[in-house]
Amino acid sequence: MNLSHDDGPREAASVDFGHLVHRRPSAVARPRSAIEVAEVVRAAAADGIPVAARGRGHSGYGQAQTDGIVLDLSALAEVHEVRDDRVVVDAGTGWRAVLDAAWRHGSAPPVLTDYLGLSVGGTLSAGGIGGTSFRYGLQTDTVTELEVVTGDGVVRTCGPGDELFAAVLGGLGQCGIITRATLRLTGVPERVRRHEIDHDTVVSAAAEQLRFVEDGRYDFVQGQVRYGESGRRIFLETATYYTPPAAPRDDGEDLPFPEFQHRLDAAEALLTQTGAWFHPHPWWNCFLPASTATEFLESLVGQLRADDLGPAGCVLFYPVFTARVHTPLVRLPPEPVAYLVALLRFPPDDTAVAERQVADNVRLYREARDLGGLTYPIGAIPFTASDWRHHFGARWPRLRTWKEHYDPAHILTPGPGIFTAPGSGTPRTTDD
Ligand SMILES: Cc1cc2nc3c(=O)[nH]c(=O)nc-3n(C[C@H](O)[C@H](O)[C@H](O)COP(=O)(O)OP(=O)(O)OC[C@H]3O[C@@H](n4cnc5c(N)ncnc54)[C@H](O)[C@@H]3O)c2cc1C
Repeated sequence: MNLSHDDGPREAASVDFGHLVHRRPSAVARPRSAIEVAEVVRAAAADGIPVAARGRGHSGYGQAQTDGIVLDLSALAEVHEVRDDRVVVDAGTGWRAVLDAAWRHGSAPPVLTDYLGLSVGGTLSAGGIGGTSFRYGLQTDTVTELEVVTGDGVVRTCGPGDELFAAVLGGLGQCGIITRATLRLTGVPERVRRHEIDHDTVVSAAAEQLRFVEDGRYDFVQGQVRYGESGRRIFLETATYYTPPAAPRDDGEDLPFPEFQHRLDAAEALLTQTGAWFHPHPWWNCFLPASTATEFLESLVGQLRADDLGPAGCVLFYPVFTARVHTPLVRLPPEPVAYLVALLRFPPDDTAVAERQVADNVRLYREARDLGGLTYPIGAIPFTASDWRHHFGARWPRLRTWKEHYDPAHILTPGPGIFTAPGSGTPRTTDD
């Protein structure tokens, strides 16, 4: 397997969606098979060189970066097999391609992220949440088999009940690099009836949202706070999936199912054109327990000004039933319902503003944590070693044991800074 030391690929691998952290790898590999991934990992482990997989690079804070070797998985992106109830895909495949292949077969993944330009391996290493998660859990809960290259450079296959399966799903790349996944599919509706329901306060919006997910009247439920020219707007976004001649009785925007799933494509095109897609994005994501989520949301929305989000930004919030999430390393508050709260910030291209917002993210994380919140670790909240120990809580000893077992040289995925200093192979033992 050839490693590229050229400036172009190394520069590309030192940038992510967050545009906040830039680490140049010493080399980039572009494997086309699990065997090629294993070759690189084995050689790197022998020399103690850190390795990070890069799916689509939509991390917020260098999670897929390293000063060692980046494995660019963009060429490991084949859809191998589609059946009514499952699809087998390489880990570098984008969710757009997964949906397209499944749709042609009359099926769809039960949970899709709002934006489909993410890789399967990238979302499975974090969780993968969407507006149907209240019903189906996270994307990690829809996986039935994985092929993984562990930190010793061995290709292994695992499934539900296997330790490696639990160590890798939602495992932030610490114990293995996913090379292939079998994902559950469901039948699909032809059409979607989409609604936006305005509220005066986030408290009433969150309360109605909870009623909606409890009575199951909608198939998709989210909530947003946005700041536009006419001021602040708080609304729920809901959708009913259906196939004619059946039809929902209520009014709303009516669109084909794939068009609904591709709903962020136009925004991406616009923000790419204006350049805002390439500005810093100090995003913040946490799960709050239902008992404190509205208190947190109310305080958050009370503090926020339009500039904190930018015209393209929003606060996203929606509930999930924690019992539907079966992925041990995805950390959720221990209550029956948890709310995802996300600040999707699109500030101007200004380093000082971005740095201020990252610092504000840490403050907000501490506030959320005091209220029983846990981060969804995809955004830009710099974590200390003790933050990680707190994050994994009772699961920390298990993760540490798995790390020793599957990645004894501690080379895999240093970006989040869980076992080594962020991005490097230096052990992280102190509370730096
Ligand atoms: C515009 C936008 C919208 C988003 N919407 C949602 C959403 O609706 N729901 C949601 O849950 N998330 C959402 N996210 C967050 C996103 O799911 C995560 O950041 C995800 O990790 C990005 O996937 P990626 O392929 O770009 O991963 P990368 O940034 O390339 O990698 C992310 C992390 O996963 C590791 N990794 C990548 N591939 C593998 C692999 N094959 N095996 C093991 N580890 C691997 C990397 O090393 C890194 O640590 C969104 C992000 C953006 C920018």
